[in-house]
Amino acid sequence: MTEIRLHDTMAREKRVFTPADPKRVTMYVCGPTVYNRAHIGNARPAVVFDVLARLLRHVYGADSLVYARNVTDVDDKIIASAASEGVDPSVITRRFEQYYLDDMGALGVAPPTIAPRATENIGEMIAMIARLVETGHAYEADGHVLFHVPSDPDYGALGRRDREAMIAGARVEVASYKKDPADFVLWKPSDPEVIGWDSPWGRGRPGWHIECSAMIGRHLGETIDIHAGGLDLIFPHHENEVAQSRCAHDGAPLARYWVHNGFLSMADGEKMSKSLGNVVTVGELLAEGHKGETLRLALLSAHYRQPLEWSPQLIAQSKATLDRLYRVVGDAEDGMIDRGVVDALADDLNTPLALSRLAAIDEPAVLKASAAVLGLLEGSASTWFRGEGDARIDALVEARAEAKKARNFAEADRIRADLAAEGILLEDGPTGTTWRRA
Ligand code: AMP
Ligand code: ZN
Repeated sequence: MTEIRLHDTMAREKRVFTPADPKRVTMYVCGPTVYNRAHIGNARPAVVFDVLARLLRHVYGADSLVYARNVTDVDDKIIASAASEGVDPSVITRRFEQYYLDDMGALGVAPPTIAPRATENIGEMIAMIARLVETGHAYEADGHVLFHVPSDPDYGALGRRDREAMIAGARVEVASYKKDPADFVLWKPSDPEVIGWDSPWGRGRPGWHIECSAMIGRHLGETIDIHAGGLDLIFPHHENEVAQSRCAHDGAPLARYWVHNGFLSMADGEKMSKSLGNVVTVGELLAEGHKGETLRLALLSAHYRQPLEWSPQLIAQSKATLDRLYRVVGDAEDGMIDRGVVDALADDLNTPLALSRLAAIDEPAVLKASAAVLGLLEGSASTWFRGEGDARIDALVEARAEAKKARNFAEADRIRADLAAEGILLEDGPTGTTWRRA
């Protein structure tokens, strides 16, 4: 059997991966907070851990993996957004959960085995908080329930930060009701007009960290094989998950391997993030006419732990690589999987090496089967090359609609005439413009 090695954040080194039960390998990835469109940096963990899921299924068997990715659908930003639109929070969360699934689907990310929503696991969270209170790891104060950090001598093992750095880094609110400034919220009160649930501590809602601990306990078990997410989640989110779960489960560790992806940045080296305002959404990139598979390859072009600089050149290179690979693969059926590709992925998901191995395969059937482990070349070459023209036409139709909206009718007419000259006919209807070949 292929030996997989993963860099484990807890151990600070690459370790051989041995699941507790090879017939039921468990993996959890912290998923999106659903109140806006995912940017291409948010897509990095989804794509990277989709490749890990494919590798695990390849090695341990198609039905061996239970992969959970949660949906955070209760959160202060969701509440604010619902209030500003004057709608129920569920209107916001369902809308953006669907966008997320569509966007990730376009990038070839297979749906996880389970996608639990926080709002559907409130009972588990309340039970876990009650257990933490009972065992002296949490206390009630001023309508809140807080995890008492000094009650856990192992707190900090994942991030290995000193206490001052943890308090500063977490930007935890210094509130008079806290016994210790590092203590964090498990439950907080909700005003009557805000979403909330009845609990032993009054009507309220959960803090962010408890949802993952509770959902992992319910859906996967006390100790899982792999817990993953972006680097920025190590502290405080994962550190707090570790503490909550271990203290609620008599010392059983939350995860046996911790895997974290590095950041996607813009050309100036700055991390792509909502708060910096330098985001490019997956939806925008697709609307520009880039194919999801091109974006996927771009995301896999760097090793997942390394920074990845996003640029137009990266997209162009990725498209050129796929053109080349599709010319080789043609419309072949699956053949044998190339050992070199699997070995590269098994070595801590070395996708750059796996991609260079793919480029060296000249047998179409072998290329097809091997690329599938990376979630690439799953379409047929005829679709890839035919679709290329379609994306360009879609983008021009979109540009014409924009021109009309801006009352630039000369530009809109020019686009229509150019397309007509190519034999593409546009039809304006009540729901937008469709096109067909004459
Ligand atoms: P958020 O919606 O900010 O909680 O992020 C969702 C996921 O995307 C988390 O796993 C983050 O660690 C990850 N993430 C956010 N920004 C980036 C980025 N620029 N590069 C890579 N991963 C990111
Ligand atoms: Zn989490």
